[in-house]
Amino acid sequence: MLRKNRLFTPGPTPLLPAAQTAMAAFTAHHRTADFRALFQRVLADMKEFVGTQNDVLVMACSGTGAMEAAVSNLTSPGDKVLVLTAGKFGERWTGLTKAFGCNVEVLSAPYGETFSLDEIRERVTREIRVVFVQATESSTGVRHDVQGIAKIVRACGDDTLLVVDAITGLGTTRLDVDEWGVDFIIGGSQKALMIPPGLGYCAVSDRAWQRMETTKSPRFYFDLRKERKAAAKGETASTPATSLFAALGAALEFIRGMGNGDLRKGREVLVDNAELCAEMTRAGVQSLGLKLFASSPAAALTAIHSPDGMDSGRIIREFREAFDAVVANGQGEMKGKLFRIAHIGYYDYLDTIGILGALEHVLARVTGTPVEFGAAVRAAQEVYARAAAGKGQLVSA
Ligand SMILES: *Cc1c(COP(=O)(O)O)cnc(C)c1O
Repeated sequence: MLRKNRLFTPGPTPLLPAAQTAMAAFTAHHRTADFRALFQRVLADMKEFVGTQNDVLVMACSGTGAMEAAVSNLTSPGDKVLVLTAGKFGERWTGLTKAFGCNVEVLSAPYGETFSLDEIRERVTREIRVVFVQATESSTGVRHDVQGIAKIVRACGDDTLLVVDAITGLGTTRLDVDEWGVDFIIGGSQKALMIPPGLGYCAVSDRAWQRMETTKSPRFYFDLRKERKAAAKGETASTPATSLFAALGAALEFIRGMGNGDLRKGREVLVDNAELCAEMTRAGVQSLGLKLFASSPAAALTAIHSPDGMDSGRIIREFREAFDAVVANGQGEMKGKLFRIAHIGYYDYLDTIGILGALEHVLARVTGTPVEFGAAVRAAQEVYARAAAGKGQLVSA
């Protein structure tokens, strides 16, 4: 059969066609009125996408660049910081804060699980200068309780900052950045925003801007104070990724369209879309006897145990060979033990039904045992039917 190459990976995610066209057509130099207009419109829209009054900065880097900016701008060598980690991306916070000479305390949860808020409450003291966490841990598919964690950090006073890597959280999870008091929240272009990799972004609170006045870690490219000053003039400190800004502008228009002209509403629709695709997927895979890896599953992706000790690489290979569908393996020690199907960004009902239909064939092939065709699809259909009955038209874009 003809096969279309499709990404089901939690970043990079499928590209929005309108964003690809906008990118290909964009030629303006960055020190021009045309680019400044685009830049200022995108930054204003990004505040609505993130859902914050705080300053949003968009930089030419991967998501990890924005994570590094959080560490280099908000800490000094020797600062006591607390890293909450439950997977490969949590471990990235540990590596980054150690690289910048922080005095790092680590509170970890096993892969596939999230933290106990009581344990966090015990560890968050006024001596902790910054708490680092993920909104959703993409390596395990787990959702962390950002609201609960923020409540604990804020109760500690203004001397402790909260930094959230929401690279797969934004656009898939309800996050009330300002109400909860998140000081620094991070996203990346290749996730819910449906455009290629290359932009990292962050929203920075007043408390975080104040902290930057006294911190002493080395920084140059990621000196956010410099970037903020340039942004006030409609510019970036060095050459911006101009064509990615054009793509981002188109993506934000698309999201606004999903909200009938209201970008915030569009973001809610995008979140609901991911939630529903994830719920359909969870119902589908469980109906085939597969087990979920995450105890509190995120909407960005679903992580699934490989059956009976089988190397999940075989499942991933079969998806690719039979259907040209790219599904993600586990990372690090989880490689071979699980596979991950994404719902973040540009996925819809048909994508979700399609990947579940494909999974039925993949499973039959790799296990060599019969699968009741239609079982996963039926379970997903029932979830969809219930949601559609409750809400009418689900996604109108
Ligand atoms: C994708 C991802 C990252 C890394 O982003 P890069 O763009 O690869 O640097 C970090 N954290 C989470 C939670 C992610 O999903």
